[in-house]
Amino acid sequence: MGEPARAVSPDGRASLPGGPRGMLGQSVDRHVGARTAKALGKLGIRTVADLLRHYPRRYASRGRLSTLRELRLGEHVTVIAQVASADIRPMRAKRGAILTATITDGTDRLTLTFFGKHRGSLEYHQRRLRTGATGMFTGTVGAYRGSRQLTHPNYETFDDLDDEHEALGRAEWPIPIYPASQAISSWTIQRAIAVVLEHLDAADLPEALPADYRRAHGLPDALTALRWIHEPHGDEDWKRAQKRFRHEEAFVLQTVLAQRRAAALASPAVARPPRSDGIRDAFDARLPFELTAGQQEVGRVVEEELAGTVPMMRLLQGEVGSGKTVVALRAMLQVIDAGGQAALLAPTEVLAQQHLRTVLDLLGPLAEAGMLGAADQATRAVLLTGSMSAGARREALAAAASGEAGLVIGTHALLSEVVQIPELGLVVVDEQHRFGVEQRDALRAKAAATPHLLVMTATPIPRTVAMTSFGDLETSTLRELPRGRAGVSTTVVPAHLPRWIERTWERLRQEVDKGGRVYVVCPRISSSGSGDDVEEVADLDDEDVEAYGSAEQVIFGGTGSADRRTMASVEDVLPMLRELPALEGIPVGQMHGRMTPEEKDAAMADFATGRTPVLVCTTVIEVGVDVPEATMMLIMDADRFGLSQLHQLRGRVGRGSEPGVCLAVTAAPPESTTFERLSAFAESTDGFALAELDLKLRREGDVLGASQSGRSSSLRLLRVLTDADVIDAARTAARDLVARDPELTSEPGLAQMVAESVDEESAAYLERA
Ligand code: ADP
Ligand code: MG
Repeated sequence: MGEPARAVSPDGRASLPGGPRGMLGQSVDRHVGARTAKALGKLGIRTVADLLRHYPRRYASRGRLSTLRELRLGEHVTVIAQVASADIRPMRAKRGAILTATITDGTDRLTLTFFGKHRGSLEYHQRRLRTGATGMFTGTVGAYRGSRQLTHPNYETFDDLDDEHEALGRAEWPIPIYPASQAISSWTIQRAIAVVLEHLDAADLPEALPADYRRAHGLPDALTALRWIHEPHGDEDWKRAQKRFRHEEAFVLQTVLAQRRAAALASPAVARPPRSDGIRDAFDARLPFELTAGQQEVGRVVEEELAGTVPMMRLLQGEVGSGKTVVALRAMLQVIDAGGQAALLAPTEVLAQQHLRTVLDLLGPLAEAGMLGAADQATRAVLLTGSMSAGARREALAAAASGEAGLVIGTHALLSEVVQIPELGLVVVDEQHRFGVEQRDALRAKAAATPHLLVMTATPIPRTVAMTSFGDLETSTLRELPRGRAGVSTTVVPAHLPRWIERTWERLRQEVDKGGRVYVVCPRISSSGSGDDVEEVADLDDEDVEAYGSAEQVIFGGTGSADRRTMASVEDVLPMLRELPALEGIPVGQMHGRMTPEEKDAAMADFATGRTPVLVCTTVIEVGVDVPEATMMLIMDADRFGLSQLHQLRGRVGRGSEPGVCLAVTAAPPESTTFERLSAFAESTDGFALAELDLKLRREGDVLGASQSGRSSSLRLLRVLTDADVIDAARTAARDLVARDPELTSEPGLAQMVAESVDEESAAYLERA
């Protein structure tokens, strides 16, 4: 693949050709001592710009002591507290002395421990830690004989600071508390920033926000905002500064997206107007159902966009089963009618193969060009994946290159340079969140003219996330499911109640006896080995998932008392189900990401035909796989998955006329927040509501997805869920600006920050590639 020719330093960061100008690009060691510079480096801070963007996590004040009760073991903390006592005593077993001090917030206490070679070496601390003195203390919370303590903490008492502070009249100023580490304290960071701020003047700083935008939103300029966020004289200062930086982050990001969109729209597409009596009309006539109102509406928008020379750039979202594929196929057929070709890019081999089958089923003789009895308007659909035999591959490549294949379906293999699709008029990307923008561009580069683009995603994306992650695309949504869908009802099953578990196996048996199919989804492939066999499991906090029992105990009933629960795995669950008396005589199959494509295909086929009506699997079945007879899904350790993912998983069942059942098995205690989260999942069928809830529970980086990580790294203060108004305002203004001044010549500061952001993103992409 063609890689952007950019300098990437050993730590993976990109630098602009020549590097950012002025003071911001300077290494911090020009301003601070070598030790401080090294400690800052460990926090990822290398340049002056990095340092200035290391914003305080919160602000404290002298009068307000920290709540010590909330400190957690192992956490690196900075607290404000009062010294209650400080005593030195000799060590019992060895030579040396110990200073034990107690600090308090008025209610709870924390111990500070210092070891010295002799009493004299500790007296310095004892003098400073005078009873009644308040100060800041920092260290990693440990435990000794049941009480929490900081060993050799770093600290500063306000007494120490008073001379300096009183002289400056800053005793009452808010105290910024920075993300710090064992190697460098919050106040050392604060001093380093103060040094840099002192030498900084407005000319050093790119001003990303246009003056009229700042005026309209009451935002300070860049230099003022930096001073206010790092050295506020009152709470109002840092609040206004944070607001400015949220706008700045949104504005830079939206400008990147607006430019990308403008660039894509600038080179024209070939107009692909609909044709009557073409393959699309023939397809519509063949369809065994009526299009839903939503499908018709989106269909009209897409039809019109394809007919124009402005490239379509559209995101189509809708739940699993909402009928996106049909909409996409009709669009592809319109392009074929106009003499073009269409490519469908799927994230996995299984999905690519399934897409091919679906397309061949739906098209029937319309996909049999060149064969006896084919329809007049017929075309050909070919598959291109990494695991094809050389012969099949050569044949598919030839059909794509000659234009004989109107439809080219495949995985990442489609991106390879040897694949030629000369009349490529439309690219459909299934499950966008697994593809980066660069991959989209690689496909686009195959055609002489810019192809139209339709991105489909089954994960409902909250509006502001769409505006952030997919901000260069217009969005369409299919909200209704086709009629005749029976839907899914969900129940949370507490794993520690044997009666529930027994009942679960009875239900499973009934389902199979009725002719249904059952998925048993596990978070892991095997129980041995570590993280790498976890397939796409959300990385959620599991603090309140208590030790209830292993998968074995869950399946056979009974309560376990293992300290560390093992997550259910395909390898463990499969033999257990095969031995379970309640399921005697029922063949059980398996499917997971470590199987070869042939094995997966065979497993899926056995499941679909009912040869193995129970399939123990990982989330490889998450996307797209369609078995209408599947009526039940059991999700083991359901708490290990994110809400959106759970919702997507259960979309695999209840796709036919029989209602679906989803049982979410969890060992989380019923009163835990984890259990509550699962209950919310059970009660709601609204994918958008669940996606928003997910967003509230997760970190932003996760939400924006791996492919967006380059960008999310530049979001420090902006929160996509709560800052909708900021994102809205920035997007409108950024699009206006780019329309007026595509090269941003009127806003050099913004141009510089946009360049840096794009660079960071591509560096992050190269790192992953
Ligand atoms: P998605 O891609 O959004 O998951 P699909 O397009 O694959 O959904 O549709 C899911 C199933 O519903 C397919 O079997 C499809 O043939 C069927 N389907 C699509 N549209 C309709 C409709 N309007 N009425 C009835 N069934 C439909
Ligand atoms: Mg689909």
